Amino acid sequence: MTTGRRNQAPRRREGRPRYFNRRKVCSFCVNKVETIEYKDVNLLRRFLSERAKIEGHRRTGTCPTHQRALATALMRARHLALLPYTADHIYLMGGATR
Ligand SMILES: [Zn+2]
Repeated sequence: MTTGRRNQAPRRREGRPRYFNRRKVCSFCVNKVETIEYKDVNLLRRFLSERAKIEGHRRTGTCPTHQRALATALMRARHLALLPYTADHIYLMGGATR
């Protein structure tokens, strides 16, 4: 019996795409969000860093248009005390209750 077949699987060129592999997409664009709701705290929270700073688009993959809308929404939410301004606020809101 002859099973002389070795690796004969057709090999396509699979060169690694340099920067295209896991490109982050703006989550708002994906969901086709046009206006970012400032009342949507759970959503907005994802774009705040641990220190309650707004994450840059490089980390979240948000496109410039939505990044701006996001910043506006976040500032509104902060103004309404839905979100913290600084890390200190998180601490105060979360743990120590007077
Ligand atoms: Zn976008």
